[in-house]
Amino acid sequence: MKTSEIFKNKTVLSLEIFPPRRTASIDTIYNTLDELQGLKPDFISVTYGAGGSETNTATLEIASAIKNNYGIESVAHLSCINLTKSEVLNMLEGFKQAGVENILALRGDVNPALAPKQDFRYASDLVSFIKENGDFNIIAACYPEGHNECSSLVDDIRNLKTKVDAGTDQLITQMFFDNSYFYSFRERACIAGINVPIEAGIMPVVNKKQIERMVSLCGVKLPKKFVTMMERYENNPVAMRDAGIAYAVDQIVDLMAQDVDGIHLYTMNNPYIAQKIYAAISTLLAA
Ligand code: FAD
Repeated sequence: MKTSEIFKNKTVLSLEIFPPRRTASIDTIYNTLDELQGLKPDFISVTYGAGGSETNTATLEIASAIKNNYGIESVAHLSCINLTKSEVLNMLEGFKQAGVENILALRGDVNPALAPKQDFRYASDLVSFIKENGDFNIIAACYPEGHNECSSLVDDIRNLKTKVDAGTDQLITQMFFDNSYFYSFRERACIAGINVPIEAGIMPVVNKKQIERMVSLCGVKLPKKFVTMMERYENNPVAMRDAGIAYAVDQIVDLMAQDVDGIHLYTMNNPYIAQKIYAAISTLLAA
């Protein structure tokens, strides 16, 4: 099923997982999925590593298992910066054979150690290419606070409009910790004529190091309330975890009250946290 169809009937709940690191067995992800399936997500997406063929094969393998073994709709992430057109065609063939109908089309982050291949410059190039070469539902990334390489929010929204016009069927945001960024972004998108569903990406924070890494990677801003919470509990892992869950639930309740199209939970492959959040919001999803 094309996941963009689901938004017509309900507020969507989706989960994101990543393939296990190369040193770990791929089976570890199936233990995670065994626990996540109880949350009855509308779909589960699987990230795509920036480099290295093992991870890239893993995305297809796991997305296929989610769809065919767990009976849950799956989304395979695909980043194009280090791929040629012929490599993307091979990937698309693999998705088709496995029955994976949904692709999150990304540019990927520039790796200073790896010269980008020249076939795709932006994610919008990948979106058009996928559109021309198969019957896939295409999802793309968006950035409530603006993408960290873009000098202005206006340019960023124009670029997003180009990506949507190229054939994007739905959007998922980068994580944010202050919902007001999401609401302003949603308004800018609406004014720009972007009418596809936009899911809010929510990252439950469970330790200070994790969030510091995220901030340095993607430049999201941390509200004072959030920083105070981290500083108060940083040396108490259990309290920090529970405070992170409570913060994420608080964000989700507010988003749902404001009619968000869907919630995309970055699970960090941690079923306990996803289960706790789900338990707190399941009645809201049904309302
Ligand atoms: P683009 O849409 O190409 O945008 C990149 C930059 O180029 C932006 O600043 C944009 O404003 C600008 N731009 C776009 N078009 C134009 C144009 N025509 N002219 C001038 N400037 C332009 N990374 C991975 O490696 N693997 C993953 O699995 C993965 N999953 C993700 C999931 C989500 C929900 C999100 C939000 C991000 C994910 N990322 C992943 C990270 C993503 O690859 C990076 O954020 C990357 O830096 C940008 O990718 P993009 O697809 O948004 O790029």
